[in-house]
Amino acid sequence: MRLARGSGAGCAGLGCVGLPGRGTATSSLRAGLSSRGTRPALDPGQRACDDGGVSRESLILRTFELAERAAAAGDVPVGALVVRDGRIVAEGWNTREAAADPTGHAEINALRGAGLALGGWNLEGADLYVSLEPCTMCAGAIVAARIRRLVFGAWDPKAGAAGSLRDVVRDSRLNHQVEVVGGVLEDRAAAQLRAFFGR
Ligand SMILES: [Zn+2]
Repeated sequence: MRLARGSGAGCAGLGCVGLPGRGTATSSLRAGLSSRGTRPALDPGQRACDDGGVSRESLILRTFELAERAAAAGDVPVGALVVRDGRIVAEGWNTREAAADPTGHAEINALRGAGLALGGWNLEGADLYVSLEPCTMCAGAIVAARIRRLVFGAWDPKAGAAGSLRDVVRDSRLNHQVEVVGGVLEDRAAAQLRAFFGR
């Protein structure tokens, strides 16, 4: 799937491409996923758009679609994708139940797919988008894959390892650190998870 590239005019603001249905965030959606731990603040200079003009929001919206595939199979709805050079190279969703795989998280599946698609384990220069803050296992895999930037939707105060419970991806003691952009379309991401657990 080739993503539409921007005009090259730069990413001066949010939403470089048209966003289908920007979230109508309400405070009530925050219940249950509101505690954000001791996450570091985002860098003020972080770019609002990534990868050839495709907005962060549009890619996170795609992770929501992938997450629905997980939910349809009885798995917790988490979706992930890997982007490099403006192109989605792999997509994944949670298959822990469907594949009876303890490691079948969306991020792991997307990273595996990206390795196969790109012909190597080293995903330097690639960015990973996921609907929920990665757990410790996935954060470790993201570091191991040399992912450049991690972008996610909902913070996960109970298990998140990108700033909530701990911060594996920015641990300076490791040999690689990942840029983190968390809380993109956070309310919608949290609502998707709550809808699954509430049904
Ligand atoms: Zn995980």
